[in-house]
Amino acid sequence: MTVGGWRLLGAGLAWWIAAGFRLGFEIDSVTLVNFFSELVDEERTVSDARFASLWNSAAAAKLRASRQSAGVIESSEPKYRACQSGKKCLRFEKRKPAPAKGSSDYCSPACGASDRARVKRSLALTPTVS
Ligand SMILES: [Zn+2]
Repeated sequence: MTVGGWRLLGAGLAWWIAAGFRLGFEIDSVTLVNFFSELVDEERTVSDARFASLWNSAAAAKLRASRQSAGVIESSEPKYRACQSGKKCLRFEKRKPAPAKGSSDYCSPACGASDRARVKRSLALTPTVS
């Protein structure tokens, strides 16, 4: 792959994300490979200015808006807040703690209770300097 190719790939990826595509969901290696293979020919023929006008943020915003109105993506994606228990989370899966629920710092009351108990135990085990 040429240096120019990598530049286009990077610009394109940023564009897809701006358009509301999520890395690891809509954007995966297949998407990127398809995307790139469509661009390789253009890379030789399209000037930088033309490229910029094709892949600008206005176009991304337009696509994002149309995808939102079509219900493909939610307009405000909930932010992932990891359960405060971290690796000790009772619902830990896929190397990630479960998301915290609502305004709580924990994924569940049980998880919060066991984390608080752990903190208490570790405090009790901490040697005190006298
Ligand atoms: Zn948890």
